[in-house]
Amino acid sequence: MVDVGKVRISPRGLARLKSGHVWVYRSDVMSADNIPPGSLVTVVDQRGKPLGTALYSSSSQIAIRMLSREPVSDFPALLRQRIADAITYRDTFVRDSNAYRVVFSEADFIPGLVVDRYNDILSVQVLTQAIDAEPVRETVISELVSRVAPASVIERVDPRVRELETLPARSSSLVHGEKTATTFTMNGVQFYFEGREGQKTGAFLDQRENYAAAAHYAHGEALDVFCYQGGFALHLAPRCSQLTGVDSSRPALEVADRNAALNGREIDWIEANAFDLLKDYAVSGHFYDTIVLDPPAFAKTKRDLDSALRGYKELNLRALKMLRRGGILVTCSCSYHVSESSFLEMLASAGLDARRNLRLLEIRGQAKDHPILLNIPETAYLKCVIAHVS
Ligand code: SAH
Repeated sequence: MVDVGKVRISPRGLARLKSGHVWVYRSDVMSADNIPPGSLVTVVDQRGKPLGTALYSSSSQIAIRMLSREPVSDFPALLRQRIADAITYRDTFVRDSNAYRVVFSEADFIPGLVVDRYNDILSVQVLTQAIDAEPVRETVISELVSRVAPASVIERVDPRVRELETLPARSSSLVHGEKTATTFTMNGVQFYFEGREGQKTGAFLDQRENYAAAAHYAHGEALDVFCYQGGFALHLAPRCSQLTGVDSSRPALEVADRNAALNGREIDWIEANAFDLLKDYAVSGHFYDTIVLDPPAFAKTKRDLDSALRGYKELNLRALKMLRRGGILVTCSCSYHVSESSFLEMLASAGLDARRNLRLLEIRGQAKDHPILLNIPETAYLKCVIAHVS
């Protein structure tokens, strides 16, 4: 990949870069003539002064993702170095797990690349035109293979991302080795990982440290709502007398059940719409000592914020009413658009309506292998609040 041209950006784009951000939106691109999709470009200000080197997308709203404030003469060498740095960071900070995010896009200074490790299998996601280029893929895979020595590398494709980036359709497949399934361990709990084509599953690795934290407080009868493959439930089980997991996805619950057997745990799994189930349970007078709420992102865009907050409030209100005095609420949001402060405000208001007192035990975020860059607010998205409820 060679540096083929210059992209001129507006003063607003410049201000964004000066604030330490690495994105420039298309509306702030003043000229990008004859620049092929996914090229390495020099970004210049209105007067032509160079601002650094970036990856260019011809179709995404995020037209520019900065790579460096300096000229980049050898992109493959830079990529290799950044992958090595990302691995060193995990070697330093990840504990008690052989499953974690190895590379997290902008947060590891490789915009558009996500790599997860599940024991001896790596799962790679390509999110931009630049990272999709064949020579870039080859560099990434060869560096990962030589540094991590996995049994295999599987590419996980999100068709919607490829559409947005106007990249040709591609299916998920093995890109190195043969192995498609394995087991991995986090905090002493074992999980299956199944990477075979058509039934791509992974874990919510960003919750790893929150599982351990929640287990610390959990007790009595527990309900894990939006349990997926049982991440919270399996961690809470040793502390609780009884555990129930709820999810609307049958395939997720089937893996959850296999995970429970792998760990010698008995957990009841219920396939249901969580909103309906909590409503029914409230009417029929079910009570719990510990409730986990970990719904999917309700606010995918800023416009969804109000309805997302209403959704969170409804769920939290119902859960609070179902908790016995002295109970523990573990409540999460993975919507970047819902800030920590608005999430806490929502929770306070749910507490008022439910006539419950909440004492904050912990306000947590994503695990350290999902780094937060202070100058890129979008890298911080997960909230996990643990509260004592009386
Ligand atoms: N707590 C899980 C991750 C949850 S992800 C873990 O730590 O691994 C969100 C989950 O919500 C998904 O498994 C999805 O199937 C489920 N889901 C989405 N909408 C739902 C609904 N209305 N009712 C129940 N489950 C739902």
